[in-house]
Amino acid sequence: MTLIPHFIAGAETAEAERTGPVYNPATGEAHRTVAFASAAEVEQAIAAAKAAGPAWRATSLIKRADVFFRLRQILAERTPEIAAIVTSEHGKVLSDAAGEVSRGIENVEFAAGLVHLLKGEHAEQVARGVDVHSVKQPVGVVACITPFNFPVMVPLWMVASAIACGNTVVLKPSEKDPSAAIWLAKAFQEAGLPDGVLNVVNGDKAAVDTLLDSPDVKAVSFVGSTPIAKSIYERASANGKRVQALGGAKNHMVVMPDADIDAAAAAAVSAAYGSAGERCMAVSVLVAVGDVAEPLIASITEKVQNLRIGDGTDAASEMGPLVTREHRDRVESYVAGAAAEGATVLIDGTQRIAAGERLDENGFFTGISLIDHVKPGMKVYEDEIFGPVLSVVRVASYAEAIELINAHQFGNGTAIFTRDGGTAREFEFDIEVGMVGVNVPIPVPVGAFSFGGWKASLFGDSHIYGPESIHFYTRSKVVTTRWPDHTPAQVDLGFPSNH
Ligand code: NAD
Repeated sequence: MTLIPHFIAGAETAEAERTGPVYNPATGEAHRTVAFASAAEVEQAIAAAKAAGPAWRATSLIKRADVFFRLRQILAERTPEIAAIVTSEHGKVLSDAAGEVSRGIENVEFAAGLVHLLKGEHAEQVARGVDVHSVKQPVGVVACITPFNFPVMVPLWMVASAIACGNTVVLKPSEKDPSAAIWLAKAFQEAGLPDGVLNVVNGDKAAVDTLLDSPDVKAVSFVGSTPIAKSIYERASANGKRVQALGGAKNHMVVMPDADIDAAAAAAVSAAYGSAGERCMAVSVLVAVGDVAEPLIASITEKVQNLRIGDGTDAASEMGPLVTREHRDRVESYVAGAAAEGATVLIDGTQRIAAGERLDENGFFTGISLIDHVKPGMKVYEDEIFGPVLSVVRVASYAEAIELINAHQFGNGTAIFTRDGGTAREFEFDIEVGMVGVNVPIPVPVGAFSFGGWKASLFGDSHIYGPESIHFYTRSKVVTTRWPDHTPAQVDLGFPSNH
């Protein structure tokens, strides 16, 4: 069976003491194994990153940018190859995997503008003959820890900006679908990135803890579930590192009575069931305002009639399996428990039927679920389920919708569907969520903006990729300069004043 290795100082490692299985979720077969790094192997990767730091930092910005231009080309030309790798370990359909590569390319394009991004500021003549300028310098070795659900895009969210800023990186991808990260590291190498600038260690908590405790790691970017994000934030910040730790979500989509119901229903189906709901920006709660619930549910029910669920490599499949059997069973447990909580299960995915056909029992498939009359306090409402489960909460007014969303522990993404510009503007002003869509169900910001949620969806104060990532991955240094200007020198023990 193929062993997925680590990638340290430009080379794949050959052996592993500890390994874990990697499944093809569509067949249920453990078709690969992945190496689980020991503390010594992680230390080796950190040392490789540290050693590569001075030369990379000293590399001209134009040469650094060249790497990103070449990488962009590789990713664009070989999208089908990397998408197939993603599908074989994650399960998402090929078109969706290609979509994540395309969104990852945006981060590479952003990083290619690094000469502009790394410009500092200059103020001339702050005092007589005195100028001040600021520079942005790399922080050093950056640890990037990523989740299973976007094995290409999320690593690129972090790695592209971190490397562009002159840092070196140790990436620890999810052990559930680790091959994409190794592919990415080799693509960077092919694009001209010097060995050691990007290292990949595979593994679990043991590998992560070594990264969090190493004094040589200066910054940590994490994306994953909220409990782990919180623990990463606490441990890494207690060790004096800067940390951004993005967590889970429960994204609400508000549908106002004046909305285009057909468009809102199509958006809800796409955003709730795309990628089997395993997106941190998936819509998992529909907030139906006034009397909109009945027509909205009717339209959704009609649209999902013929939804095809199957192997992601089959071009006819619109939704693939969940990532593991355990995760599938957990998702189904929420649906199974919803009726006892007082909700109405309109479509029961635990029956594992789609378009009239039984789903393959070998793969980790579940059907889609639609649950009505969901209320705060129910588990199906409060928890992140991370599967193809859409809950409908009925509220009487816009104000009630706002109150509901603002009271939820998560604040990653949200959307409002309305034809009224005034209501949309009010929503943007009122809502306590980091990313907002107006008639856009999955408002993932384009690469030139930054991505991040509020509340339990993000620990730390920097959003990820885009302009905030340049701030996160650099330290600013401010230089105050005076050159001899023929004025007589004076001794003055007072505190320097610019007035
Ligand atoms: P996860 O938290 O289980 O794992 C994320 C990473 O942490 C993996 O690399 C994993 O190996 C590591 N890890 C797991 N347990 C650990 C532990 N005890 N100590 C140290 N490291 C540990 O998340 P997942 O299941 O891979 O991904 C799904 C989650 O990620 C969902 O909650 C989803 O909402 C979230 N997510 C959030 C965003 C966002 O931008 N906010 C984006 C994508 C995914």
